Amino acid sequence: MMFSPRPMRYKSARKRKLPLFLFALLVAGIGWLANDNFGLIAKFQKEMLAYKISQLPAIISTAQAEEAPPAAQKITNVVRHISRETDRIRGGESLSAALARHDISNQESFQLAEALRKELNLRTIQPGDVFVLERQVEPAALVAPSVLVNTAPLYAFELVRSDGFGVPARYRAVREKAGVAAGSDSAFTVTRIDTPVTKVSRSISGKISSSLYEGILYAGGDPALVNRFSDVFAWQLDFYREVQKGDGFKMIVETRFADGRFIGYGRVLAAEYNNAGRQYRGFYFESDDGKFTGIFDEQGNSLEKSFLRSPMELARITSRYGQRFHPILRQQKRHNGVDYGASTGTPFWSIADGVVLEARYSLTAGKMIRIRHRNGFMTEYFHASRIAPGVKVGATIRQRQVIGYVGTTGRSTGPHLHFGMTLNKNYVDPSRQNFPAGKPVPSKLVKSYMSKVRPLAEKLEKIEVT
Ligand SMILES: [Zn+2]
Repeated sequence: MMFSPRPMRYKSARKRKLPLFLFALLVAGIGWLANDNFGLIAKFQKEMLAYKISQLPAIISTAQAEEAPPAAQKITNVVRHISRETDRIRGGESLSAALARHDISNQESFQLAEALRKELNLRTIQPGDVFVLERQVEPAALVAPSVLVNTAPLYAFELVRSDGFGVPARYRAVREKAGVAAGSDSAFTVTRIDTPVTKVSRSISGKISSSLYEGILYAGGDPALVNRFSDVFAWQLDFYREVQKGDGFKMIVETRFADGRFIGYGRVLAAEYNNAGRQYRGFYFESDDGKFTGIFDEQGNSLEKSFLRSPMELARITSRYGQRFHPILRQQKRHNGVDYGASTGTPFWSIADGVVLEARYSLTAGKMIRIRHRNGFMTEYFHASRIAPGVKVGATIRQRQVIGYVGTTGRSTGPHLHFGMTLNKNYVDPSRQNFPAGKPVPSKLVKSYMSKVRPLAEKLEKIEVT
């Protein structure tokens, strides 16, 4: 169906129809001009469509349009009109169910799934994923009841999925043969359109008033950044116990953008922490071939040691419990360990490589794990809600391997991890032990290391902590 420049048949309606007719002619004209660029005007046409349907349904009927002369039919074959519908996958809904809501036939839905499967695992489609349906509609459908739009063949389908880092990727399926008549029986071709991610480094700094977690959040960071920053000094400082009021932090961190939107922080390239007058600095380094990576000080000495300082992620500890378990009030000697307040189910890890000595239930310690390490050290982890699978007597454990989940089993007043360390069977303060460090930057990479680290160190120097 098409508007044609013939005189209106009903005199009484002429006055009302004339501006409408001109408007429709304008829409058709735009469609014709944009013949092969329909994607660009699709949005505009969708808006026109919405306008037309809501404003004018009573004036133009399908019966009238069917009487259009053959000349108008010819134009139909030239003009491509695309309607666009945007929606989201709903909870518990499959792709085919979502398509069915938009009156896509089983046959089309099947064709589409077959094509998409080549680029995308359909089981990864999640509620909230955005999809767009583009249908070729006959021009008259632009002003006709919406049922015409819904039964038109699918021209293209697009699904927008975010990867684990929040970067959107579009999966676009387009009919191999475009055309109103041929539409429904030709297959789809799928292309994946990645969103380029741009990285910009920026500096973040602040002073500690209560916790590093709060300090970094006040400075504009997020919980993931708290963990990344504390990871740089994971072998030097336990930010739960050792942070003091007035400490300062600085960092140069990658910020990531996709489609001009901030999608998150990337790597912490350089970090500084001033703890009670003592300065710690760490730099992330990756060799040009990507084979050598690590965290080092300004001279290229490794910051990585055989023992981590904390048995869980910092953001997990402080975000929920803050000052509830004030570490300084806990007496190391009488208590034989440190209590990390965290919610039930929070994973905790072994702070060093070792072998499981005990993994069992005890009346006082609840579900507990003891791990034997090199050089006479042993660590213990109490009150777990659950011990991780595979953590059994004799099992080999790696540094940072999750061995259990926080709970309040045994003699415990609330969910927390009790962590203790012994050296030759005597309880010791983990923060006072000296552990062997990892390998420094190899001599052949020192020049490359220095050329990357010096500018970062200079930048750190210039950051003001207020
Ligand atoms: Zn305890």
